[in-house]
Amino acid sequence: MLLRSIEAIMTAGFQCAGCGEWNETGVDSSAGIRQQYVEDCQVCCKPNVLQVSWDMSAGEYMISAELE
Ligand SMILES: [Zn+2]
Repeated sequence: MLLRSIEAIMTAGFQCAGCGEWNETGVDSSAGIRQQYVEDCQVCCKPNVLQVSWDMSAGEYMISAELE
């Protein structure tokens, strides 16, 4: 049985491109240092296209969001 390590999920956040509210999300670090995926805003439910990149100096994922 394959168990997924909890450490692989990094907590990060993005500002919704629709309503401007802050959303927290989990980035699967095993998927790489650059990722793009769509996540719905938890406030207004609009789909945000997230550009995820690893910030080496900050030691965390940076996310920019735009509407689909
Ligand atoms: Zn929103």
